[in-house]
Amino acid sequence: MFVNYRTQAIVLGRKNINEADSLVYFFTKEFGLLKILGKSIRKISSKLKSAARDFNFEEIEFVQGKKFKILTDIYSVKKLPEINKDLKKKKLCHFICDFFIEFVREPEKDLKLWNLLAFSLQMTRDWDKNLYLVYQFFIWNFLKNIGFGIDFEKCFNCHKKLKPQKSFYFTKKGIVCDFCEGKSVAGKKIKISQITLKILRTIQKKDIKLLSRLKAADKNILKEMDLMTAYYLGIIRKNEQ
Ligand SMILES: [Zn+2]
Repeated sequence: MFVNYRTQAIVLGRKNINEADSLVYFFTKEFGLLKILGKSIRKISSKLKSAARDFNFEEIEFVQGKKFKILTDIYSVKKLPEINKDLKKKKLCHFICDFFIEFVREPEKDLKLWNLLAFSLQMTRDWDKNLYLVYQFFIWNFLKNIGFGIDFEKCFNCHKKLKPQKSFYFTKKGIVCDFCEGKSVAGKKIKISQITLKILRTIQKKDIKLLSRLKAADKNILKEMDLMTAYYLGIIRKNEQ
């Protein structure tokens, strides 16, 4: 007898296999990340096909097969059509979902990650300006949840609270204060401004109201944040290998 499992799930993406089958990646409320075989899901007549669209919120049913879990039913709970109509939003949501596929171990229930995913997708749908702040919001909170968080309040070396100053340095271990800069870490240091640090703190506190009011459409801030995330993600990817 097959046990039928049922859970809420968000569609992250898929990998096509065979002629008409796909492995569909779901983040589920009950089991965390799951890769489930959608049999004949690419056939036009498949009722699973129309429901299993990326970023949809679903109720799914599956059984454990010999090699894969097999999708047996899927019901749409909520769709976010605004995302698929806007190329920038769609790209951002793919980026968010790909992060789950890359970094999350399966299967492991994690309600914090579930809430972050649901919130970040809906935030992408709702925000029209400063979408890169949504990206930054997602990335730093995601990293915190999977154990790679950075403390943006304190110097990582002396653990003292960072005092306001014109600029700071971001290193592979975190932010350093003036006193510790130069003697503390080997490796790259990225200079970031006070306003960039303020944005990162707001993100970490999940103060969405304040975040939406920040006029951060400044190219320099964007550049600083991009440099930081690219550098830090590079380090994490290296460690994860
Ligand atoms: Zn220090």
